Amino acid sequence: MSYDYLAETIEKINQLRRDKNAVILVHNYQLGEVQDIGDFVGDSLELSIKAANVDAAIIVFCGVKFMAETAKVLSPNKTVLLPVFEAGCPMADMADVDSLRELKARHPNAVTVCYVNTTAEVKTECDLCCTSANAAKIINSIPQDKDIIFLPDKNLGANVEIMTGRKMILWEGFCPTHMRITEAMVKRKQAEFPDAVVIVHPECRPEIIAMADEQLSTGGMVRFVRESSAETIIVGTEVGMIHRLQKEAPDKKFIPISEQAVCMNMKMINLTDVLAALENDETAIELPDDIITKAEEPIRKMLKLS
Ligand code: SF4
Repeated sequence: MSYDYLAETIEKINQLRRDKNAVILVHNYQLGEVQDIGDFVGDSLELSIKAANVDAAIIVFCGVKFMAETAKVLSPNKTVLLPVFEAGCPMADMADVDSLRELKARHPNAVTVCYVNTTAEVKTECDLCCTSANAAKIINSIPQDKDIIFLPDKNLGANVEIMTGRKMILWEGFCPTHMRITEAMVKRKQAEFPDAVVIVHPECRPEIIAMADEQLSTGGMVRFVRESSAETIIVGTEVGMIHRLQKEAPDKKFIPISEQAVCMNMKMINLTDVLAALENDETAIELPDDIITKAEEPIRKMLKLS
């Protein structure tokens, strides 16, 4: 984008958000240019809670579809716009309702826990929801005599098993972006920056977590870098996070473990899309009332336990 076009686009976005009483919520993995115009930047659950509490008629959700759906479930009377409707989450799409019902039928004693990265429809079949920040706490709240089905992320599930000592029935899903991070990549960065602290996201494989100093949700990473005395931090998550962390701690040096840890779905939305969404009220998330009511239950239960 040329400078003039960029400035003009931002000006129009600002005018429309005022005129239409809209707020723009932006996930930590979005393009830097989109993060920079957000009213709030955060992880998926922080943003959904913000969507529910903020006094606005329109929420423009710059993230992927399950996030916009979660915002709609928690604030059904607001218009929730996803600027690029095709922006889905490949991991969320690895879990479907029919297969989940079959699995539940085979394990009638199980409590079903879904990561927030699931569709609203899948959430209707779940007892509890969790995020990467509170997953261990949610699992620890379940009575010991119950089995646990955990979906869709087998890596987060395996990492929570290690933290809690609870064996679970794990769905075979994964985040393709975090799967791209390998032990060899971590070793290379550690050799290059021996004084650096290594922080990684719990969607990484357990072998990667074992090599890191901290496993943190994106919200946890933000808090960590604000408080840490480390000057150099090696970061194992989607590369968009570097932009956010650099803004939070401009004096620190952030090194991505892999430049290839890019989620193309998270990069679909640009400023022109945000402007088009505001101009045309597109694309609004619509969910049937019964899906909203049922999907809200596991999310509300999680919020109570958090
Ligand atoms: S980074 Fe992974 S979990 Fe997040 S939206 Fe992309 S595929 Fe889904």
